[in-house]
Amino acid sequence: METNYTTEQLQRLDAAHHLHPFTHGSALGAKGVRIITEADGVFLRDSQGNEILDGMAGLWCVAIGYGRDELADVAAEQMRQLPYYNTFFQTSHVPAITLATRLAELAPGDLNHVFFSTSGSEANDTNLRLVRHYWAAKGQPEKQTIIARWNGYHGSTVGAASFGGMKGMHEQGGLPIPGIVHINQPDWWSEGGDTSPEEFGLQRARELEEKILELGEDKVAAFIAEPIQGAGGVIIPPDSYWPEINRILKKYDILMIADEVICGFGRTGEWFGFQHYGIEPDIVTIAKALSSGYVPIGGSLVSDEVAAVINDSGEFNHGFTYSAHPVAAAVALENLRILKEEGIVDRVKETTGPYIKEKWEALTDHPLVGEAKIKGLIASIALTPDKSTRAKFAGEEGTVGTLCRDICVANNLVMRAVGDRMIIAPPLVITNDEIDLLMERVWQSLDQTY
Ligand code: PLP
Repeated sequence: METNYTTEQLQRLDAAHHLHPFTHGSALGAKGVRIITEADGVFLRDSQGNEILDGMAGLWCVAIGYGRDELADVAAEQMRQLPYYNTFFQTSHVPAITLATRLAELAPGDLNHVFFSTSGSEANDTNLRLVRHYWAAKGQPEKQTIIARWNGYHGSTVGAASFGGMKGMHEQGGLPIPGIVHINQPDWWSEGGDTSPEEFGLQRARELEEKILELGEDKVAAFIAEPIQGAGGVIIPPDSYWPEINRILKKYDILMIADEVICGFGRTGEWFGFQHYGIEPDIVTIAKALSSGYVPIGGSLVSDEVAAVINDSGEFNHGFTYSAHPVAAAVALENLRILKEEGIVDRVKETTGPYIKEKWEALTDHPLVGEAKIKGLIASIALTPDKSTRAKFAGEEGTVGTLCRDICVANNLVMRAVGDRMIIAPPLVITNDEIDLLMERVWQSLDQTY
């Protein structure tokens, strides 16, 4: 979109009229937002002409990179043919049917059904209602509590933010809603103390069993978790964690909701993150890379068993005007075609993932970097003043992370700070040469932060 405004005018108008998500509003007026005007491949361009390497794929979503005409063409064609119709009241359309079928083919096991939404948050709110309705329909209406994790992130709607374990979000709006409880996360670096990572992973998994026994197994409907926590700081759990969680869920007949909004569609080198960990989810939350962020679309992939119970229960009183929006569905299909036909997921697994892994793990040679974790193209480093003790910096948590993030921006690299962890999740089409450039800017930024 063209504009005749200058950058300063746009910044002033933005501060005057635009309420931003997850942004300190009053800081905006003083500093002014960075205005992104266009993008291509893995690079963004801002209104002042800077070319910035996007180490975060937007918000973890632009898997196939920016500027793919195929998606624009499909959107324009679909808008001309059928810009909108709903999927309520015994109606459907070709993009919805084709996308649901494609997703059922891609998802392993019996995850053969999709309920569409326009975002990950809406999908998780759908999951909340799905699992509670499922148990009620099965004649166990008391099985309603959902267990989630502190420092998990599942979105910003009321249900999704209640699933999330972000205390700052809970404080604004009186969350979580009743019937959602949290257990601790498997973050060994911050919380593992003297325990080995493997032992710590087991301990944290067993908190699930303790919570189930405390609540009563006949009261617990589901457990929701991200295979790898994303917004919480890219916490890659110890190997012992997921097998133990799986064992516990099976033992007590509790549904597993794998939130794949970040991990899904190749981010970790598999189509779904849960495939690394032997998780057998009953429901899978999808969004973001489903359309590479080109249009808003999300959904809940649902197992045969759960779908059968929901379908047999009469009407599921739930849905969004834009569930399976035809333009979004058509764009998502084209995105999935590109991911598959261009071998992008395989490339993360076999080429770019292994290439960056060695370089990323070598960041622990930097004096500021403690832990360096990576899976496919999602990675984090923990900044610390003393790696031998895994110490935190004096002063307010996140001060050094924020400084490092701002230095990255000045070096034309988007790397996000979560407290004093720095995280990346670049577009999946990043090449080895672009990885070299990314790593060069990471080192430069760390040196300037030190
Ligand atoms: N689930 C996870 C794991 C996420 O990371 C996010 C967003 O970052 C969401 C859900 C919410 O998705 P959305 O922002 O599309 O509502």
